[in-house]
Amino acid sequence: MLIDARTLDAGTTFSADVCVLGAGAAGVTVSLELARRGHQVLLVESGGEEGDPETQDLAAGESIGAPLVTLDNPVRLDQTRLRYLGGTTNHWAGFCRPLAPVDFEVRDHLAVSGWPFGLDELEPYLARAAEWVRITDSDFTLERWEEKLGMDAPGLRTDRVEPFVYQVSFPTNFGRVYRRDLEDDPSVVALLHANVVNLSTADGRSVRRVDLRTLDGTAIEATARAYVLATGGIENARILLASTDHDPAGLGNANDLVGRHFTEHLQVYAGFGLLDLDPADVPALNGGQVTIESGRHQGATHGAKFAVGLTDEHVRDAATTGLEVQFLPGAFPTGVPLQESGATMNDVAALLGHTGPVPSTAVYLQGLAEQELNPDSRVALGSGTDALGMRRVELDWRYSAADRARVLQGLRVLAEDVGATGLGRIQLVPGGVHADAVDHLVPGEYLSIYRSLPDEIDEDDFELGIGFHHMCTTRMADSATEGVVDATCRMHEVDNLWVGGSSVFATGGVATPTYTLVALAIRLADHLDAEVL
Ligand SMILES: Cc1cc2nc3c(=O)[nH]c(=O)nc-3n(C[C@H](O)[C@H](O)[C@H](O)COP(=O)(O)OP(=O)(O)OC[C@H]3O[C@@H](n4cnc5c(N)ncnc54)[C@H](O)[C@@H]3O)c2cc1C
Repeated sequence: MLIDARTLDAGTTFSADVCVLGAGAAGVTVSLELARRGHQVLLVESGGEEGDPETQDLAAGESIGAPLVTLDNPVRLDQTRLRYLGGTTNHWAGFCRPLAPVDFEVRDHLAVSGWPFGLDELEPYLARAAEWVRITDSDFTLERWEEKLGMDAPGLRTDRVEPFVYQVSFPTNFGRVYRRDLEDDPSVVALLHANVVNLSTADGRSVRRVDLRTLDGTAIEATARAYVLATGGIENARILLASTDHDPAGLGNANDLVGRHFTEHLQVYAGFGLLDLDPADVPALNGGQVTIESGRHQGATHGAKFAVGLTDEHVRDAATTGLEVQFLPGAFPTGVPLQESGATMNDVAALLGHTGPVPSTAVYLQGLAEQELNPDSRVALGSGTDALGMRRVELDWRYSAADRARVLQGLRVLAEDVGATGLGRIQLVPGGVHADAVDHLVPGEYLSIYRSLPDEIDEDDFELGIGFHHMCTTRMADSATEGVVDATCRMHEVDNLWVGGSSVFATGGVATPTYTLVALAIRLADHLDAEVL
């Protein structure tokens, strides 16, 4: 059942077995997994079925740290996540792959690292998560995808670099795809237009009720045996910090860890190159399409594409962090004129100082990299308030000179190995060609932009953008002095409160997060079903 909270009387109280806060990828998954097993679930969502500017404004805040940019374009905090049914899956890009085994390990060269368990713990849940995100399944074996797509992955396999496959959900909007389930399942009440403003507690050790407000001021309450906070990587921290009934530092924050370790994926527009690929294999870099053959979404289509990344072995041996690169043929970001502006292979070859036969494909390189966890990179509460009187978010995102150096080093490894394996030639232009380059073009002279840039690159200051992935603000650790939630995603300090979403990631890794956070949501539902309810 779907209920619009604005139609309710002030003082209405809901009670359920479980109260799930936030109807994005994590909240919808955990709610329906529990409802299917007969548990009464109240799913509370800030927005309605469509976005509206007043609700979206609740996500606004101040960014006081590293600039939030993507390809030179500034991004406001409220543009990085969405507040209505389905949450940020209303505009995610759908890229799915699991984290790598190395991401779960303690890496001594990093200040903070290590999950309480390894990838093997998540594998059964990743198998189930594939259906939720609408991809084929959890088998990402390269040979299998080469066969399914009928194309080869780039032949770049060394000790340091290897190709891998992304399954790309044709973005599964969890609101649209699962709305019907939420409406029809007798065990679920989805309460829309209801904003969590406080997790009320008497003793700081348990939540006694959730205080909700509509934008027109109606106060509603919800009580449950178990609570799941799944409002996204930034709001999870914000709500805990704003819940000060017992402690001015917030709920579950005696160790001052809530909101700390905010981690993003570092997006880098890395350069361009010439690759010697069989023309028949080039489309796989942009992505082919497959049909799901079984299960609930049988007959639906999704994409798959090949990219390359550092091997786990190299991440360990070189004491570094993860990095992956997509080779984008003829798909340069807006404002980056190359093939689309008529550049020929010979132009690019000349630009690279290439001699000999010209390889077949010009590509632009878009990279995503892991950053090291830093407690000073954090979500905090700002001084302003929103329309509900809640303190706005203040985000102090930080990455370090060492992070930047690792990105550059990873790109160099990749470029060297492309050359060494004879796959082609790469010109690194970390930070990318500026998005406004096109405004400064003199027709026919665009190549000078590329030619001049390598010398102009400031290795200490090239642009790093955001990946739109908000992670680690309630990180998972066995000990309450190292993390906010335990291995079951329960708050160390609050007995009846669990957390869903990528805020519980213990490290960010480099793979896109949603597939993994959906797997964690299924695992959480299993745990609540078996051990708690
Ligand atoms: C442009 C873009 C592209 C992306 N592409 C990818 C990709 O290709 N692959 C990938 O893995 N990830 C991608 N992501 C990230 C992905 O969208 C998130 O990882 C995912 O949506 C997080 O799920 P969630 O349930 O934790 O949070 P969300 O999806 O953000 O859902 C949180 C929900 O909580 C609600 N909420 C918030 N505050 C309150 C409150 N106070 N009271 C009640 N409800 C509240 C919100 O309205 C929302 O519905 C992308 C993100 C963006 C912005």
